[in-house]
Amino acid sequence: MTQTSWTGGAGARLQIDLEALCANYRVIAEAVSPARAAAVVKADAYGLGADRVAPALGKAGCRDFFVAHLSEAEQLRPLLPEDARLFILNGVYPGAEAACMEARAIPVLNSPEQVRAWVALGKTVGRPLEAAVQVDSGMSRLGLSEDDIDALLAEIDFRHDLSLVLVMSHLACADEPEHPANRLQLARFGALANRLPPAPRSLANSGGSFLPLPAFRQDLVRPGVSLYGVAPHPGQPSPIRPVVRLDARVIQVRTIPAGCGVGYGLTYAPDQPARIATIGVGYADGWLRALSNRGAAYLGGVRLPIAGRVSMDSICLDITALPEGALKAGDVVELIGPNQPLEAVAEDAGTIPYEILTSLGHRYAREWIEA
Ligand SMILES: *Cc1c(COP(=O)(O)O)cnc(C)c1O
Repeated sequence: MTQTSWTGGAGARLQIDLEALCANYRVIAEAVSPARAAAVVKADAYGLGADRVAPALGKAGCRDFFVAHLSEAEQLRPLLPEDARLFILNGVYPGAEAACMEARAIPVLNSPEQVRAWVALGKTVGRPLEAAVQVDSGMSRLGLSEDDIDALLAEIDFRHDLSLVLVMSHLACADEPEHPANRLQLARFGALANRLPPAPRSLANSGGSFLPLPAFRQDLVRPGVSLYGVAPHPGQPSPIRPVVRLDARVIQVRTIPAGCGVGYGLTYAPDQPARIATIGVGYADGWLRALSNRGAAYLGGVRLPIAGRVSMDSICLDITALPEGALKAGDVVELIGPNQPLEAVAEDAGTIPYEILTSLGHRYAREWIEA
């Protein structure tokens, strides 16, 4: 990861609170006990930096990590505790089986082809290889269907041809606790898993971990976004602490006359004189262009609306609400923090906090609050 220093001229500072991250892990682990809590660290730990996040979670006691791709597993393996298990959610791509084994990663086998290829490699090396198997309990994204399972059972001995360490599935509607699909998927998951030999089971992501019915937790939960500070069920009280804070630097402040346009396309043109501050964050930093004329920054409790379109490297704010001189070049405004949580930014952008986090990019000065 490139590290830009704040004093060295980055446009904004991203603070990542590893203490809060680990507290979130412990809160989840306690809430789901006696089930175990894994950590989903795919997509560079949702943009926050898997090289720092995963070791911190390892120190907090986590021993089960999930990434999406082998390439992510290869980077992470050396940074994890020796006894940690590292699962690859997308399984193993054709031709990558040997590399997956060498990385000491456990593929989540999603299709009959993946199962067959992994079993074949185990026969070649003369020992059953560890594997997780995913069944499709209703999301139709990844995993074996009932017919797939029955066909495989006729040709593969799941007790000896591989070492089945986890049977898992994924909930489509876990962020909506009342959604009837949740219980249907739970029942379907049980029925499909029962066709396979006994193995530990996993169904819940962050939302699933906090569903009122403990049965969703099974033996292992797989939270991602809640570790990174997002409440599992939007709008409900939650024990999850925010993990990120983002502050942007003011580059320049100006006063414009009534009717003067601001930014590309001149889409913001207030009919009163206004004061405009330009800050050093843009869509190349994941501050989505959808926030043009919609989002805001904050100074203390004062909302400073985005004026005009988001540019690649800068954004204009209407700071007329502030007293003259309250903001000058070099000062900072809050983009994510106590006045503007991640969830609010996502709502303004018409998306979900996951997309804001994973878009943040690499130009920020990153500061770590150690656990
Ligand atoms: C991304 C992912 C998770 C984590 O989901 P969150 O909603 O971030 O908690 C868990 N399981 C699977 C299969 C995933 O793809």
